Amino acid sequence: MAEFDETFDWVVVGCGGGSMSSALLMRKAGKSVVILEKSPYAGGTTSKSGGVIWMPANPFMEPGEDSVEQGVTYLDAVVGDTSDAPGSTPEKRRAYIVEGRKMIDFLVREGVQLERASTFWPDYYDELPGGCKSSRTVVAKVFDKNELGDWAPKLRPGMMEVKARLDDGMKLAFAKRSWKYRMVFAKIAAGVVLGKLRGQHWVTAGAALQGRMLKATIAAGVDIRLRHAVDELIVEDGKVVGVVTIKDNKPWRVGARLGVLVNAGGFARNQEMRDKYMPGTRTEWSMTNESDTGDMHRAMEKIGGVLAQMDEMVGFQMTRAPGWEKDYVAPGAQAVTAKPHAILVDQSGVRYLNEGGSYEEYCERMVKRDKVVPAVPSWAILDQTYMDLYPLANAGQGKKIPENWTSSGYLKKADTIEELAKLIGVEPATLRATVDRFNGFVDAGEDADFHRGERAYDQFLGDILVEGRDRSLGKIETGPFYAVDIVPGDVSTYGGVVTDVNARVLKSDGSVIEGLYATGVSAASPMGRVYPGAGASVGPSLTFGWIAAKHAAGLGNQVL
Ligand SMILES: Cc1cc2nc3c(=O)[nH]c(=O)nc-3n(C[C@H](O)[C@H](O)[C@H](O)COP(=O)(O)OP(=O)(O)OC[C@H]3O[C@@H](n4cnc5c(N)ncnc54)[C@H](O)[C@@H]3O)c2cc1C
Repeated sequence: MAEFDETFDWVVVGCGGGSMSSALLMRKAGKSVVILEKSPYAGGTTSKSGGVIWMPANPFMEPGEDSVEQGVTYLDAVVGDTSDAPGSTPEKRRAYIVEGRKMIDFLVREGVQLERASTFWPDYYDELPGGCKSSRTVVAKVFDKNELGDWAPKLRPGMMEVKARLDDGMKLAFAKRSWKYRMVFAKIAAGVVLGKLRGQHWVTAGAALQGRMLKATIAAGVDIRLRHAVDELIVEDGKVVGVVTIKDNKPWRVGARLGVLVNAGGFARNQEMRDKYMPGTRTEWSMTNESDTGDMHRAMEKIGGVLAQMDEMVGFQMTRAPGWEKDYVAPGAQAVTAKPHAILVDQSGVRYLNEGGSYEEYCERMVKRDKVVPAVPSWAILDQTYMDLYPLANAGQGKKIPENWTSSGYLKKADTIEELAKLIGVEPATLRATVDRFNGFVDAGEDADFHRGERAYDQFLGDILVEGRDRSLGKIETGPFYAVDIVPGDVSTYGGVVTDVNARVLKSDGSVIEGLYATGVSAASPMGRVYPGAGASVGPSLTFGWIAAKHAAGLGNQVL
């Protein structure tokens, strides 16, 4: 009989997305809960993130705008063949939508204020059956961290610590050219000044979500312990009955009467695991939090859990402007090559992908291309019109280019495409031909090679002040011309243990490891090998954490 230093009903490893949705439900059911978190912060990468939850037919959509069936149809279409993606099954995809909507209602009842992220944030493959051209996205309302009292400094800092909705923040790039967005900017600036005067500490995006979740979780009486890493699961008669953490530098055994939920993130910060599962990618290109080291992937595998989809990451293209290593969230480059007057080429000067579209797919294509033609890094090729109209890394459009961008060699600049080609080590005739071919597509209004600009999502990423395909397509013709490198960064890994429809961890023979649940990127994604839309990581983490708690507490269909 295992002996413990203390025992709870529900033991959660990691304080990420699903940890707190599960903890809130367990407390509502009258159970005791402890969350053991390795880092000095609560919130995980979820707190650093956009905090977007992708949820079809969510309660913030208009009546009749979407349905569970449309969502299921889309997920089935986008995920496709799952013979090599056991983390995704038809039952899990349906459960995600059916239960996810209920989970959102539950969080709102628990005081976590949520809202629609935007009315225009299309699915990443909106052209597929059931795809949505408006928006299935949900976020938390901006949050004043002061509401957390003593816990405020313990919330992992977010990407945007201002009183601004994420949707508005993303449109600031257009403030120079549009009165509408200038007004948005003015409102945000006024909010910053007022906030300072009133002593408020506004956070938005992921930190607002995790701040609100943390507030509700603490109020519900959940015991959250920071700096309590777990690296071992305690098994008795084939059942997980507890975990080993560290307390006062000594092993501390915590028993779990109803089960253990692992919500310990991925392995983006573990180079050894990356070399094994995702060769050619680097920890330093990851925007995840530093604790994302795959400890629990290994602990779960050790007791019979099966790892799957380990070669998948939620790639997010990045450009390495001087100082990028020191940035809390390095400058993503998704909106760079997706804008008009910009393309991406490999090291031979050839285009090889749709520069719009899902960041996950973009980076996957970079890594794949690199196996045939060197493509890590690839080059973004831009013209002066691009530089005048749009931002690059952390420099706003039309702004003076930082001196060290050229002196460090980061930004290559030349009067002609041929000279630019020489600067990046590409055959001039090849780059010239690539640019001419692309410009021809722009004239024809159709990218015959990669169909860029055809999806609603490509247009979302483009220049929203113009209409149709011009949002995405624009000629590269006005010198001088520029090139910067683009690498396949990431915002998460996407592989982990295989779980069933109730988030229980499975063994290789398909049987369940009793007492062990996993959610978030500790589990192989229920989205298989694709990223269906904004929020396809945080959404499953919250939903399957909640489903796990429901199952472990034996709640069935009872609504709490
Ligand atoms: C800049 C950025 C923007 C993003 N935007 C979005 C978005 O809008 N929507 C979306 O869906 N995804 C987004 N992502 C991806 C998303 O944030 C992650 O995939 C997701 O947050 C992972 O959530 P999780 O609950 O699995 O883990 P996390 O939120 O990372 O939580 C895991 C926790 O476990 C802890 N932990 C790790 N090991 C141990 C251990 N051994 N013992 C105890 N604790 C441990 C970690 O410290 C961490 O706190 C974004 C990511 C970034 C970086």
